Amino acid sequence: MAVELYNDGKHVCLAFYDLVHEEAEHAVQANQFLVVDGDHGALIDPGGNMTYNGLLMGMQRFFPIRNLDYILASHPDPDIIASLNKWMVTTSARVLISKLWTRFLPHFTSGRDYSARTIGIPDEGMLIPLGSCRIKALPAHFLHSEGNFQFYDPVSRILFSGDLGASLVDHGQASEPVQDFDRHLPLMEGFHRRYMVSNKICRLWAKMARSLDIEMIVPQHGARFVGKEMVGRFIDWVEQLECGVDLMTEKNYRAP
Ligand code: FE
Repeated sequence: MAVELYNDGKHVCLAFYDLVHEEAEHAVQANQFLVVDGDHGALIDPGGNMTYNGLLMGMQRFFPIRNLDYILASHPDPDIIASLNKWMVTTSARVLISKLWTRFLPHFTSGRDYSARTIGIPDEGMLIPLGSCRIKALPAHFLHSEGNFQFYDPVSRILFSGDLGASLVDHGQASEPVQDFDRHLPLMEGFHRRYMVSNKICRLWAKMARSLDIEMIVPQHGARFVGKEMVGRFIDWVEQLECGVDLMTEKNYRAP
């Protein structure tokens, strides 16, 4: 069942929390998103092959599949975009991903040349027109991928944050918003310390995030952060986080 994160009758944001679970309990829990504006739509981080059918069904309620404008990929991990071939075959959507990764995408498809439908997002980000709004592709490099973007929807004021903010929860436990930030921390800490690159990058991101009007931060794994207070607590936590290269020492580089 899709969760409506936002719906004003014309602009809709949907989150899918259980599509992986329905197919494969052993796979990491992952969320997929659909943003609709009028009769236009974009999928954000549509996932691997397991989530394709569920998303297709979810979408049909809002517009004909052929009207799908974009596949927006935060980075090129399998749980983000491994379903690309199916989407390229069944829709005429264009795929947007960091320009660092565009030439790697054909490894997810059959080898057919989709370069005319592939847009490389420049390092500085871009505005993506969708219906009457413009989705912002925000630079979030090294959080965790080298060329990495988050997607900010100025209508709903939702930040789709990719792996930043991810919590590793059991299937069926991701669809409720975070209630108690401190109790939620242990579900995020290990992942962020190992996957995110450094405190310098975290601070740069926090500064950018504070310049935006964010009502909700919705990561690609686990639960979302709803309301200004929760969003603020999350940004504060990221800003002070030591992770990645900050924590690596000689001990981590001993030949086994
Ligand atoms: Fe990832």
